[in-house]
Amino acid sequence: MTRKMGTWYLVLLVPFFLPASCVCQDSQIFGVSKDVSYYTVELAKRFKINQDEAKSDFLEFTKRPHPFGSDRQRELASYLLARARSLQLEVYEEQFSMATPNPEAGKNGTSFVIEKIGYNIFARTKTFPQADCSVVLASHYDTKIVPGVDYVGANDSGSSSVLLLQLMAYLSREMKDMNGLMSEGPRCNITALWLDGEESQLWEWDAGLLQHPARIIDNTYGSRHAANMLTSCSLFEKETKCWPLRMGGTALPAFILLDMVGSPDLKLTREKNSSKKLVRLMERFAQKLDLSHVIDKESHAVSDDHEPFLKAGVHAVDLIDFNHLSTWHRAGDDLSTISYESMELAGKLAISMAVSISLEPKVFLGHADK
Ligand SMILES: [Zn+2]
Repeated sequence: MTRKMGTWYLVLLVPFFLPASCVCQDSQIFGVSKDVSYYTVELAKRFKINQDEAKSDFLEFTKRPHPFGSDRQRELASYLLARARSLQLEVYEEQFSMATPNPEAGKNGTSFVIEKIGYNIFARTKTFPQADCSVVLASHYDTKIVPGVDYVGANDSGSSSVLLLQLMAYLSREMKDMNGLMSEGPRCNITALWLDGEESQLWEWDAGLLQHPARIIDNTYGSRHAANMLTSCSLFEKETKCWPLRMGGTALPAFILLDMVGSPDLKLTREKNSSKKLVRLMERFAQKLDLSHVIDKESHAVSDDHEPFLKAGVHAVDLIDFNHLSTWHRAGDDLSTISYESMELAGKLAISMAVSISLEPKVFLGHADK
């Protein structure tokens, strides 16, 4: 797909979004103009979690365990579809099948693998009807199988799944008038992607590949399936990745993953494998939003759903709090551990990053920087 860059009269925005005392002295964020930076920071600051709505979503997500391939996960896929439709989003469900390692492999001649059905749910804003790109905000929505425990995963994966609904409700509402305010030019919609099957089916993340006789990757099922669907394409004269035509064929300038963002005193991990451009963008917006304290000073590598997208050449980042692990994959990961404030702060960062890229995607097209 190619598209010539149109003229973008962002100046039209100025009377609507910039007060007389504009913040033009702000140091510029890499790849983001001052006007877009100002607009996005203001948009992010206004974001608030609707706690009644979030709680009702949490009650649904934490009713029972819902691992990849379970009947309850199928029900939650339908729930997400219905919720996304109610937010006036363009919705698409992708069903897929993957071989998973059979925990009983070899006993009495049983097969090494079990086929499981998963569902990735896509929901796109309709802000720019003609847009041929879309920035992805993602979360997995399956729970880990924890032996002997009814593990409902309020933080992992409820917090990011519920936050994604809140973000899309907000963005669908708050960005809807932008199309009329801006003339033609490069800009993207925003796609929420709820991914199935992030958790390994065996207890250890790598055991399916390293120890089990099936020797297969046993994690990130939904994200590997989704990243495999991407094709090479061209947008604004840059080589990039696009979804298949049946999903609109839109280009994917960036993939922003949220995971485990509900612990009190949020401390997001500076994730080593993530795209450096996106990590810098996160740090700069954190400064502007007075949120530098929610980002860990140390860097650590975390394996997660962003990796298949990085491998496919997409700019991808993982916004994950991998510091608060006292209830991680344990019985205590229930609604009582959730901090709406932490979710809100992670949401503000996600909004600033996703919306700024959606309004100025050019820097994030082309092959990722790692
Ligand atoms: Zn987990």
